[in-house]
Amino acid sequence: MSTAGQVIRCKAAVAWEAGKPLSIEEVEVAPPQKDEVRIKILFTALCHTDVYYWECKGYTPLFPRILGHEASGIVESVGEGVTDVKPGDHVLPIFTGECKECKHCLSEESNNMCDLLRINCDRGVMLADGKTRFSINGKPIYHFVGTSTFSQYTVVHIGQVAKINPTAPLDKVCPISCGICTGFGATVNVAKPKKGQTVAIFGLGAVGLAAAEGARICGASRIIAVDLNPRRFEEAKRFGITEFVNPKDYDKPVQEVIVEMTGGGVDRSVECTGSVQAMISAFECVHDGWGVCVLVGVPKKDDAFMTHPLNLLSERTLKGAFYGNYKPRTDIPMVVDKYLNKELGLDMDKFITHSVPFADINKAFDYMLQGIGLRCMIHLDA
Ligand code: NAD
Ligand code: ZN
Repeated sequence: MSTAGQVIRCKAAVAWEAGKPLSIEEVEVAPPQKDEVRIKILFTALCHTDVYYWECKGYTPLFPRILGHEASGIVESVGEGVTDVKPGDHVLPIFTGECKECKHCLSEESNNMCDLLRINCDRGVMLADGKTRFSINGKPIYHFVGTSTFSQYTVVHIGQVAKINPTAPLDKVCPISCGICTGFGATVNVAKPKKGQTVAIFGLGAVGLAAAEGARICGASRIIAVDLNPRRFEEAKRFGITEFVNPKDYDKPVQEVIVEMTGGGVDRSVECTGSVQAMISAFECVHDGWGVCVLVGVPKKDDAFMTHPLNLLSERTLKGAFYGNYKPRTDIPMVVDKYLNKELGLDMDKFITHSVPFADINKAFDYMLQGIGLRCMIHLDA
C-alpha cells in the first residue's frame, strides 16, 4: 500500500541535548512538500561533523535534532514539482545542494556554493515553509544540514538528492555521500598534485584517508601523514601511506618538521582534521613558489586562521573545499558509475571498518570519539 501523501511513523535516533546519547524514538515524518523528496534511508554512517554538532563545543546548539548526513536510500515519494526522481529510485542525500538555477550553480568557476542550498549547519527547518517535517506527538524535531539521515525516513530538498545507478550496493556507496568525495575530491579536484610530487595529509579519518587515496591515484611520490592519534597510523598502512608524523613526538611545530623532511616543503597538503592549528601547519608546510594547501576540516565558530602574510606573498596558495568541489546532482551519479566500473581506484571496504544495527547507533559515536576505525555503517532496517 502506498504511503505517499501520508504521515509515516518510523524510528529515528533523536539528539535531545548536547553530548547525551541519542535515543531511538518513534517519530512522525510528514509528506514531502514542493521540491522535496521523502527517502527511506537504508544505511547511514557517522562523519565527524555530526559529532561536532552533537557535542556542540564551539558550535551553535539546536535541539531536539535528528543528525546524520552520510547515507544512502530509496525514494518513497516526491512532492509537487519534483521530476528528477520518482519512488523507487536509489539516491544519496547530500549535505550541500545544487539548485541548478542560482549564480553559483550556473557559474563555470563555482562548484558547490549554491545560493539556495549550500551547507548550513545552523538551520533546522525546511526552506519551503520554515518548518520541520519531523515531530513527536506534534512537537517539532529539528533537521540537520537538510538531510537528517539518522531516521528510517527523512525529507530532503530535491537539490540535495543525487540519483544513482540502481545496481550500486547501497551500503558500499553510502560514504560517497560525504567522507569519500570530500577527501578524494579535495585532492584530485582542488589540490591536483602532479605525478611524482609530495603530498602531506593532516588527519587520518575517512576524509583524510580518502584524500590520501586521491594523492596515490594522482601518482604522488611521497605521502606524508600527520595525526595526533598513533592508532591511526596502523589503519593508514592499509592505504599505502609509509611516512607518519605525530606532532606530539617533536618539540617544534610540525610544519618545521615537514619542511626539513622534504627539503623545503611539500608540493601539496590537504587538511582533514577540523583543528585550526593543523590548518595553519598544513598551510605553512607547503613549498614556497608553488605549494598549494587545501582546507577541508570544519572549524569551530570562533576559530581564526593566523599566518604571516609573507607566507602567502612567497607564492603559496591557500584554498578550501566543500564536498571535494563536486556538484552534488551533476557529478555524483558519475562518481558512483566510475566507482562501479572500478575507474576510481577506490576500495570502499577499506573505509567501512565497523557495522552496527540502528539500535546501537551510540556505539558509532563511541568509536569516532575514541578514534577507532574509519566509518561505522549503521543499518537502519536491522
Ligand atoms: P575523524 O575524526 O575520523 O578524523 C579526524 C582525524 O584528525 C583524527 O584521526 C584526529 O586524530 C586527527 N586530528 C585532530 N586534530 C589534529 C591535529 N591538530 N593534528 C593532526 N591530526 C589531528 O573525522 P572525519 O570524519 O574524517 O572528518 C575530518 C574533518 O573533515 C572534520 O573536521 C569534518 O568535520 C570535516 N568534513 C568536512 C567536509 C567538507 O565538505 N569540507 C565534509 C565532511 C567532513
Ligand atoms: Zn544553486
